[in-house]
Amino acid sequence: MSSVLEIDLGAIVSNWRLLRDRHGHPTAGVLKADGYGLGGVEIATALYAAGCCHFFTAHLSEAVTLRPHLSDAMICVLHGVGPGDVETLVAHDIAPALSTFGEVIAWNEAGATRGRALPALLHVDTGMNRTGLSPAEVAALTDEHFRHIRLLYVMTHLVSADDPAAALNLAQKVRFAAAAAKFPGVPTSLANSSGIFLGADFASDLARPGAALYGVNPTPWTANPMRPVARLRARIMALRDVPAGTGVGYDHQWVAAQSTRIATLPVGYADGYHRVLGGRADVSVDGRLCPVVGRVSMDLITIDVTDVPAAAIGDWCEVIGPDIPVERLAALAGTNGYEILTSLGRRFHRVYRGA
Ligand SMILES: *Cc1c(COP(=O)(O)O)cnc(C)c1O
Repeated sequence: MSSVLEIDLGAIVSNWRLLRDRHGHPTAGVLKADGYGLGGVEIATALYAAGCCHFFTAHLSEAVTLRPHLSDAMICVLHGVGPGDVETLVAHDIAPALSTFGEVIAWNEAGATRGRALPALLHVDTGMNRTGLSPAEVAALTDEHFRHIRLLYVMTHLVSADDPAAALNLAQKVRFAAAAAKFPGVPTSLANSSGIFLGADFASDLARPGAALYGVNPTPWTANPMRPVARLRARIMALRDVPAGTGVGYDHQWVAAQSTRIATLPVGYADGYHRVLGGRADVSVDGRLCPVVGRVSMDLITIDVTDVPAAAIGDWCEVIGPDIPVERLAALAGTNGYEILTSLGRRFHRVYRGA
């Protein structure tokens, strides 16, 4: 075994508790993209055992996979009712987030056909302009549209929650309150991870954090309050000393300026280690940061371990973890922590630490 992705379920549970306490109201777990790439079933099982009873996925297939592990918890599919999805949604007791007028009509008809009200959330678009019914469409809805729907929550999604100064936050909140007023007695769902930190005004009956559960900083303007969750380690598989003037890797894009010790690690862009990180990121070897030199290959990276003379073949190095936070890699790759986590490949041996 030469590369291991450790996922700390205890840290995920403790992050969920922190978010729930901070929110002061019920708090869900967002598990789309297989729990942000870290393992939907394992994470769902741990969160459910800790008392979380509302879950969100993007795809129906993800929800169906989780259902046997979540007993009677609410599972909502954010992608809603796709063509041909009704049977599966009903069979697995999954609530779609209804995001278009047509979906409301289709879901209501599905309930009428089955002679019972089917559970759903109503997604209102308050500014993302991506999914959700517009406020005008919401205004056009009547009781008749919901005759066979059991509306669990009215929800919306914040555009810029990670920027407390964004004027849109308040505007969305106001639009959401106006839309939700049409459904008295129906609970609301507003904040994502960062939204929880926008203050009590952004509290609702159900927060929907994803990224922060997995250790991504929901407050980029200040220190990360979350515990790190993912740690990726790889063993040195080869070592060589190259004299000054020697090129390393594809295109010899990096050339040694002086005699250099190069270690090769079994991690590459096919594993989600972004190609752009070559020449930018570091790997932690024995607590020292060693630069990634040369191109990132599909399955390999090369690092400069000249400053760690004791480094030997078989030694473990940290590629992501306490020394190399997800955020730093994200900044170096010109992306966010979400993309770093969800890109992590399937080839690492995965180890789950107990909740
Ligand atoms: C992804 C998503 C979330 C979770 O967002 P985070 O920023 O990861 O906390 C919540 N609600 C909706 C609709 C989403 O698509």
